[in-house]
Amino acid sequence: MQLNNLIEAMEKGMKKRDLSDNYLRTDGCPTREEIGIGEYAYGITMVPCEWVYPFLIELKNRRIDENSELLIKKMQSMEQYTIDGGTEKLKFVDNEKLAHRPLTIKEKFRKLYGINESVKCGDCKHCIRVNTNNKNYYKCEVMGITSSAATDIRLKDYGCSEYREGNKSI
Ligand code: SF4
Repeated sequence: MQLNNLIEAMEKGMKKRDLSDNYLRTDGCPTREEIGIGEYAYGITMVPCEWVYPFLIELKNRRIDENSELLIKKMQSMEQYTIDGGTEKLKFVDNEKLAHRPLTIKEKFRKLYGINESVKCGDCKHCIRVNTNNKNYYKCEVMGITSSAATDIRLKDYGCSEYREGNKSI
């Protein structure tokens, strides 16, 4: 099974079948903290998924990084014709600079928590609305709340591995 399909199947399963630790605790069943990887209990997919899912997301992100690096290298080796019939290196954005610029807050956050395409930030309980000068902005509690646009998120942004169902303020 392709990595993306595996992640997607896991996300669907987790969303549809997983029970929260609170529910399990109330029901006297073992929770995520008590059960190790590979063991199954009432609570179903959640125990192994809770352990494996972040690693799959990390693997997916590493592949994306590797592919981006390969693409940048390929573009750097390409040439274009000049007016006088000669050739020169392709002029794009400064790929070297681009590859080595510091990551933005959002990029760092996504590197850590990945992308969960089956959910949206607008449905997550970590997404909060901030009203400034009669304008609504959306922020993620996990990413951090600052007055800078660098930490703005959109309701339709894909979620991440920290996604928790149940928006509380929107
Ligand atoms: S899904 Fe992730 S990025 Fe979006 S609001 Fe929730 S915790 Fe923040």
